Amino acid sequence: HGEPVPGRRPRRRLTVVSGPSGVGKSSVVSELRKLDPEIYFSVSVTTRAPRPGEVDGAHYHFVDRAVFDKMVAAGELLEHAEFAGNCYGTPREPVERALAEGRPAVLEIELQGARQVRRAMPGARLVMLMPPSWQELVGRLTGRGTEEEAAVKARLAEAERELAAAGEFDARVVNADVRDAAEQLLNLMNADFETIQEQ
Ligand code: 5GP
Repeated sequence: HGEPVPGRRPRRRLTVVSGPSGVGKSSVVSELRKLDPEIYFSVSVTTRAPRPGEVDGAHYHFVDRAVFDKMVAAGELLEHAEFAGNCYGTPREPVERALAEGRPAVLEIELQGARQVRRAMPGARLVMLMPPSWQELVGRLTGRGTEEEAAVKARLAEAERELAAAGEFDARVVNADVRDAAEQLLNLMNADFETIQEQ
């Protein structure tokens, strides 16, 4: 993958997928990965500790704060933000390379980062993944049963803040069904492709 397909106009657009904690962003993005292997999925750098099962270089590049700060200072991150006490950022070079090769690229990031991408790359498409209802999101966040009440409350407050920004996004996709939401995302990305072909 990575080579432009002869006779086909390449898709060259960056898609940002955001949405509150508990909405199912990672499930939808991994379903999208299965649907279209041509898409480049950005691997973020983060200062948070790996969770069980997370692989360095695959889920994230796990770095310490000094390395993260150096990357910021060197302009190596397309966007970066602090979330729940940890730093997250998108390495610039692999995304720019994918887009130059004509591959569509997807970033799964939180709201502050999405806003930075909007300013830095006005051609990017911002998509917010939405829960079917507020009650559904509350159920998903409390139903995990793994977190203390205070942590759940903090996540819900954060989720409310993120959902309030839905109007800033170019499109909103409701995640009632993971496969269906992934297909809606792909349709949005393919609509870009058709627009390019018509020119
Ligand atoms: P988690 O720690 O649960 O993997 O991620 C926490 C939040 O950070 C999620 O909303 C996730 O989408 C977001 N995130 C992951 N990578 C990046 C990144 O590179 N930049 C920004 N701004 N947010 C990120």
